[in-house]
Amino acid sequence: MNMNRRHLLGSAAAGAALIGAGRTAEARPLCSMLPARWDETYDVVVVGCGGAGMAAAIKAADQGAKVVILERLAFPGGNTQLAQGQMNAADPVRQPRQGIKDSWELHAKQTLAAGDFRGRPDRVETLCKNAYGAVTWLESLGMKFRDDVFQMFGGLYPRAHQPVEPKGKGYTQVLLKALKDRNVPILRNIRVTDIIRDTPTSGDVRGVCCQTKDGERYIRARRAVVLAAGGFSANQHLRELHDPRIAGLGTDNLPNKLAGEVMMAAVRVGGYLVGMDFIQSTPGAPAGKKMKIILNTKVAESIYVDKRGNRIVDEGTRRDRIRDAVLGTPERYAYTVVDNETYESYNSAVHSSVEEGIKIGEAWTAPTIRELAVKMGVDPDGLEKTIDRYNNVLVKNRKDPDFGKDPRNLYKRIEKGPFWACYTGMTVHHTMGGLDCNTKAQVLDWQGCVIPRLYAAGEITGGIHGTNRVGGNALLDCMVYGQIAGTNAGQEKAA
Ligand SMILES: Cc1cc2nc3c(=O)[nH]c(=O)nc-3n(C[C@H](O)[C@H](O)[C@H](O)COP(=O)(O)OP(=O)(O)OC[C@H]3O[C@@H](n4cnc5c(N)ncnc54)[C@H](O)[C@@H]3O)c2cc1C
Repeated sequence: MNMNRRHLLGSAAAGAALIGAGRTAEARPLCSMLPARWDETYDVVVVGCGGAGMAAAIKAADQGAKVVILERLAFPGGNTQLAQGQMNAADPVRQPRQGIKDSWELHAKQTLAAGDFRGRPDRVETLCKNAYGAVTWLESLGMKFRDDVFQMFGGLYPRAHQPVEPKGKGYTQVLLKALKDRNVPILRNIRVTDIIRDTPTSGDVRGVCCQTKDGERYIRARRAVVLAAGGFSANQHLRELHDPRIAGLGTDNLPNKLAGEVMMAAVRVGGYLVGMDFIQSTPGAPAGKKMKIILNTKVAESIYVDKRGNRIVDEGTRRDRIRDAVLGTPERYAYTVVDNETYESYNSAVHSSVEEGIKIGEAWTAPTIRELAVKMGVDPDGLEKTIDRYNNVLVKNRKDPDFGKDPRNLYKRIEKGPFWACYTGMTVHHTMGGLDCNTKAQVLDWQGCVIPRLYAAGEITGGIHGTNRVGGNALLDCMVYGQIAGTNAGQEKAA
């Protein structure tokens, strides 16, 4: 570390003590300066080994760049490997076979509307235009998607592609193999704390400063740095600061009290944050319960009910409306109910979690709806009445006068026992806000100017999903903008 840098660290510690009134803050430098020497040099340095980081690193390597990925954890995959795995795209092969009319324009229109028009139209257009290309790119790397698409929870239209492998495993498997084929090293247990730019507000980005168990390390990027360190759902302070209504909710993300630190490092070199208040919650364990059990993925085949057995919302609506309906019940949680046909259509990961849930009283199965309700502690008369009305009025007439479920999603009765149910509470899931970027995945400052040689992709960025992310658009965001960031970073001229 050079003298100037040490001096700045000292003043930052003093500043943190003053600002931190009542909180213990970690000392952070006020700006990020060139070190006296670099410990290692690459062409492209990618921060974070989740979906966006891996996609970026592969594409940067394809440009002939010497690439490295820096990962804070001992293992790769990030939240991408925890994902349910659905990815949206208007698909010219699968959808026509199912009689579904779609286009990237419709996908973009729905994405913008679902986010209350707070996403940038040009970023959304690029996302949706390149969506099917992301599917075929993954397939070219060995990824297998099922032959049909469906409307997933919060997805608003039947265009979700389901990997054959459970959860995010398919993505991480093929992306890791592609990285290995290209000899891209993944350095683990290395936490990026700062971005180094010529000066904090001018010039090019030159590399990053990291913490390892052996101390600070400076890694130079001759062409560019790509930030792909994910969102900040796991940072309780930040998420509750931006949306106090979610105080007390847990998260389904990987634990990381410092989630958001890389976006803050980008702010210290001029990056600007947008939409930080837009935070998404989705079904998970209610307060005091242990397990996130997901039976609601297929919106046409599941219903949410409350403790009185009453249905509470259109299961196919936006995620923010479902959150409000669930948190609006007196208990602040609901239940998902499906029949055996739907249960059987889910993969082994879902089955294992339900079996585990049954053992600890957080999921239930029974041959009849009445017996199921008794086990759940839900009013049996209420649940029987709800299921009867759902099957024999709503599905029969393909019309939902109660909550307006789209007729497209009213074709499946809940009638083939045994029946299955689980708790549906709300957990913090995704942060739509983050670094402002352009369609080339370049990070922008507060005036909209490009910060030279700095790119970002995936959940660390903002300005795409607006107030409410469409289910299945986040993995897409990683794959589309990860590829764009990696390609452009790899094509920068070496300094
Ligand atoms: C349970 C769950 C299910 C989901 N299901 C779906 C779904 O079906 N479809 C969909 O579209 N979206 C889904 N999502 C959302 C989606 O998975 C995420 O938005 C997406 O995977 C984020 O990818 P990313 O590459 O931006 O970040 P991540 O995959 O989280 O990767 C970021 C990486 O950066 C590392 N990192 C963080 N800080 C540092 C640092 N300082 N230095 C170095 N490394 C750092 C992290 O350890 C991590 O490995 C789901 C999310 C969750 C949590």
